[in-house]
Amino acid sequence: MEQNPGRVLGPSKGLLQSKELYQYILETSVYPREAAPLKELREITANHPRAGMATAPDAGQLIALFLKLVNARKTIEIGVYTGYSLLLTALSIPEDGKIIAVDMNRETYEIGLPIIEKAGVKHKIDYIVSEALPFLDQLLQDDENEGNFDFAFVDADKINYKHYHERMMKLLKVGGVVIYDNTLWSGTVVMSDEITPKELKTSRLSILEFNKLLAADSRVQISHAALGDGITICMRIS
Ligand code: SAM
Ligand code: CA
Repeated sequence: MEQNPGRVLGPSKGLLQSKELYQYILETSVYPREAAPLKELREITANHPRAGMATAPDAGQLIALFLKLVNARKTIEIGVYTGYSLLLTALSIPEDGKIIAVDMNRETYEIGLPIIEKAGVKHKIDYIVSEALPFLDQLLQDDENEGNFDFAFVDADKINYKHYHERMMKLLKVGGVVIYDNTLWSGTVVMSDEITPKELKTSRLSILEFNKLLAADSRVQISHAALGDGITICMRIS
């Protein structure tokens, strides 16, 4: 189960050294620029028992910047939950842009859906209820999908990140960007297994392996950024 990034190293401070510093970033640079529907979705999600799964708003702001930087029109999202990153993407891409959004649990998407509809961006979203890996393989059976995507955001089961990455290297065009969320896994990447909370242990190992794999992958230019719960930005360069 994914945890609130603040839960291990202190309450709601992301990975920064103090709660005040994180609050400062949110209040100075993030919340004043957050679109009203996103704020509404964030607040509704806060009441959900698994609210810690939502993309951190500071990480979201950087994702939106990358969507603009690459002029993203065709995007993929793996792991939707209530839809914070999905709505953020839908608001950032052009009117005729498209997002293929995959999640195996539609129930949580239903929470955010009324807000997505009200924001007038639902027509950009193709929501697929499926296990992500077989769905990506199905997409790749059509040659037209190869190198056809500008951007992807991956935020589902950490054990499959390495498999999603292989699919993304085919689906993204050269120059396209994929962002992986939770790549510092509540700070547990630098903890011993003994002191890592039980519920974080398995994914911690997956993230450790995945981070090494990305560092050694010459097909991508990367930046491992300490925003939210850690995000790794990868541009496909070959
Ligand atoms: N990006 C979302 C946001 O901003 O709120 C948070 C996504 S949440 C961390 C992870 C989501 O991935 C959950 O909704 C879960 O149902 C979905 N998920 C987990 N494993 C999956 C899999 N193998 N295939 C498809 N979806 C999966
Ligand atoms: Ca996440």
